[in-house]
Amino acid sequence: MSTAPLLEVKDLVVEFPTRRGTLRALDRVSFDIAPGEILGVVGESGAGKSLTGAAIIGLLEPPGRIAGGEIRLHGQRIDGLPAEAMRRIRGKRIGAVFQDPLTSLNPLFTVGQQLVETIRAHLPLTEAQARERAIGLLAQTGIPAPEARFGQYPHQFSGGMRQRVVIALALAAEPELIVADEPTTALDVSIQAQIIALLKGLARERGTAVMLVTHDMGVIAETCDRVAVLYAGRVAEIGPVAEVIHRPAHPYTRGLMGAIPAMDEDRDELLQIDGAMPRLNAMPGGCAFHPRCPAATAQCTRERPELMAAGATRAACWLVGEGLVAEGPR
Ligand code: SF4
Repeated sequence: MSTAPLLEVKDLVVEFPTRRGTLRALDRVSFDIAPGEILGVVGESGAGKSLTGAAIIGLLEPPGRIAGGEIRLHGQRIDGLPAEAMRRIRGKRIGAVFQDPLTSLNPLFTVGQQLVETIRAHLPLTEAQARERAIGLLAQTGIPAPEARFGQYPHQFSGGMRQRVVIALALAAEPELIVADEPTTALDVSIQAQIIALLKGLARERGTAVMLVTHDMGVIAETCDRVAVLYAGRVAEIGPVAEVIHRPAHPYTRGLMGAIPAMDEDRDELLQIDGAMPRLNAMPGGCAFHPRCPAATAQCTRERPELMAAGATRAACWLVGEGLVAEGPR
């Protein structure tokens, strides 16, 4: 498997102009994803994880805009493309899966019609060939009796089955990348596990790269090869999932890891870190985490740390730079 990045995000800045000034929601976010790799993007609500996904698939809601940085797919810049060119890339080369499958499905058409239309919009197939492919995709995503299901409407599917249909739609044109934003959050735990297995199978068997956005460290631990931890619109830490979970280097990641629930526990209360993430219009200087950080120093209040090597991960923390991060879990 090639390890050259399929997706490269470099110094991505997303801003929202407001009457009171410009708010910076993503501040120089960088990461890449290799073919067949699943990168988890995790963080509290408002950390910028969904915005990162939206920027990549070209669906930032106005007035949000990319104000800096680059997004490349196989080396080709895709940030700043005209809407029509981006729409083609979104259907053909990047598939999107959102939390609520109903936002991606039209209630007035059968799932078969929707699949065939999407397939034919992107691939030079006849109606009969597209139908065959659609049924194959339904089967591949684990939908029983796909021929019978082909003629049914979205409301005739359960939540988990609908999400499978959305994944089938996202796969219709054999995309190189899938951006999945909280794809399992609305599903019950046993269905979550099936959807996770499906995403892992796609990455392993088809070499599809997956960017999995979630607030749920349990899902990250189950699914991902690497994970990027976002805090206040910046990457706090990025690295192999086992390292980040068992040897987190950034104080924020440590707090987050102390809060991983078992798969069957209530997940509403994830964080054990005092305080709240800063608002965009009140971003602290220096390290954005410093008001909550038990290890903050005067330098942290003044200077922003960049990502620095910390064992197998990289973390944006001055302690890492000074080699002061303890080995092993807390
Ligand atoms: Fe804490 Fe300072 Fe590290 Fe930020 S740079 S996480 S404030 S120790």
